[in-house]
Parts: sequence; C-alpha cells; structure tokens
Amino acid sequence: MPRILDGVAIAATIKQEVAEEVRALGELGIRPGLAAVLVGNVAASEIYVRNKVRICGELGIYSDLITRPATVTTEEMLALVAGLNARSEIDGILVQLPLPSHVDTKALLDAILPAKDVDGLHPVNAGLLQAGRPSLAPCTPAGVIEILRRSDIPIAGQHAVVVGRSDLVGKPAAMLLLHQNATVTICHSKTRDLGAITRQADILVAAIGRAGFITPEMVKPGATIIDVGINRITDQAEFARFFAGDAKREATFAKRGSTLVGDVHPKAFELAGAYTPVPGGVGLLTTAMLMANTVRAAKMRRGL
Ligand code: NDP
Repeated sequence: MPRILDGVAIAATIKQEVAEEVRALGELGIRPGLAAVLVGNVAASEIYVRNKVRICGELGIYSDLITRPATVTTEEMLALVAGLNARSEIDGILVQLPLPSHVDTKALLDAILPAKDVDGLHPVNAGLLQAGRPSLAPCTPAGVIEILRRSDIPIAGQHAVVVGRSDLVGKPAAMLLLHQNATVTICHSKTRDLGAITRQADILVAAIGRAGFITPEMVKPGATIIDVGINRITDQAEFARFFAGDAKREATFAKRGSTLVGDVHPKAFELAGAYTPVPGGVGLLTTAMLMANTVRAAKMRRGL
C-alpha cells in the first residue's frame, strides 16, 4: 500500500511552530503583520483570502484585509502597494491573484518591496532563490519541500521530475529541489515523450493544471508523487472516469455536485511508494508557508 503524505497534519505542525515563533517575537515587542489585498468578487479568491486572514488571527499574526472593487485601476493599486510598503506594522503583502485583466499584474507584483513579498514572486526573490541565497520562496513550492522533508523522503541524489514550469510553482519547485541536491528535470507542454521522462522520476511533482493528466503508465512503481494540481470537476462522466467505485467520493459528489481532483489520475497513486492526496495534500501547505514567510519577513526586516 502506498504511503499517504498527510498535508493536514504537516500543515498543522508548521502552523503550531509559526504560532510559537510569533509568541517569541511578541516577547521582543514584535508582532508580524500581513496585508491581504482582495480585488473584485471572485468567489474562490474571497474564500482563499478570508481563510488566510482567519489563520493569521489563529496564529497571532496581525492582518489587514483590504478590498477594492473590480473596477480599480493599475494606478490605484500601485498607490495602495506603495502605502503598504511604507507601513511599518506590515511585514508581508499578499495580492490575491488573478486580478482583473485591465490591471497590470506584473507591474503590481514588481512594485511590492522584495522584503515584504511573502508570495515570493518578485524578480529579486526569484533571483535570490536561483542563487541559493536566503529569500522569500513561493509558498506552494516551499510546501512541497516541507512535505518531503517532514516525511523523511530523501531528496539528495534522487531524480526529481517536475511537470510544469510556471513562475509560481514549477520553476521554483525545481530550483528548491536542486538546492536539496536532487537531479532535476523540468517538463512542459513542448516536452517530447513526457511519459518516458516521468517514468524515470523517483520524485514526481505534477503542477500542470489538467485533471488526472498523469496516468499510471507515466509513473515508476514506488515513486513519490507530489500532486500540486487542484482541479474542480462537475461533469458526471469525468467524475466517473476518475472515481467510479469510490463510495466516499460518490457520496460527496452527489451531495455537492463537484469534487476536487489533482493533476494525477487516482489510479496512478496506486503505483506510488508515497503520494500527496487531493484534497488534503499540498494545498494546505500553501497557507501554512504563507504564515511562515510572514514571520520570516518580519525577522529578516529587523535583521533577526
Ligand atoms: P500554469 O497554468 O501557470 O502552468 C502549467 C504548466 O503546466 C505550464 O508550464 C505548462 O507548460 C504545463 N503543461 C500544460 N499542459 C501540459 C502538457 N500537456 N504536458 C506537459 N506540461 C503541460 O499553472 P500553475 O503552475 O499556476 O498551477 C499548476 C497546478 O497547480 C494547477 O492545477 C493549480 O490549480 C495548482 N496550484 C495549486 C496550488 C496549491 O496551493 N496547491 C497553488 C498554485 C497552483 P507550458 O509552460 O509549456 O505552457
């Protein structure tokens, strides 16, 4: 039986550690602070941001939720970020993506002070990450490493194959794995004979954004599979393709009319030595690492 890498438990441990750090900083008169910027009325973004603000409260981190209508301009957003850059009680600035298409997302992310860039998306932080220098790494890839590390899965010397090369997930995940001495291959939509490469993976990281894309024949038996994908499916036929015969999922799907599936086909997990489930895997680590990054930013900014 493959081992399930429990994102719920690992995220809970990280949050507990962060809460302890926040307490210790409190004794020095420091309270880490996060500003979360939410634009428009995208339901998923609202849920994500409110969840992040709630967890800040649980861990003792100061938070400021700032909302703007979908009609906000790039100039107004740049002015907002400039204000947050200048506020001393704010250590981390999180702009929930995606932004409305008329807002220049790149200009906005570039305007965030690298020292407050808790999402790790500023080019300065991307450069520091590449150079292997202390920086704020993007939360989801940092979570991938935490899952492997805290599950005692060896990384050094292993062949890690990352499918996906986004700036948010694939590229930084590959870079972090490289710094942990894995031999890393990055694959993408133009990769030829993808299965031949993924079958070589001791550690397979799927960050593609396509439901159940990694099928059993693409997996080396015994591999560790980290499924970053989060895809909501509502179609009955698609549901059946992934979960037919899974009574628990069928009950949830019947009740809610949707379910989440990763970028890895559930059947592929059966071949793995260990894997992260969806839900209950990498997703939960992202928020935990955001909290960890906020505390890290608070300490780095004060030279601690
Ligand atoms: P992007 O769409 O930015 O990137 C997807 C990557 O997958 C691209 O590099 C693309 O290649 C590659 N790809 C697409 N199709 C194929 C294919 N047929 N074969 C090989 N590679 C392919 O997505 P993100 O990186 O932002 O997200 C990836 C997944 O992770 C999504 O499911 C997303 O929901 C999830 N996610 C989960 C988070 C979490 O908290 N767990 C956080 C962020 C994302 P190319 O570059 O050539 O186009």
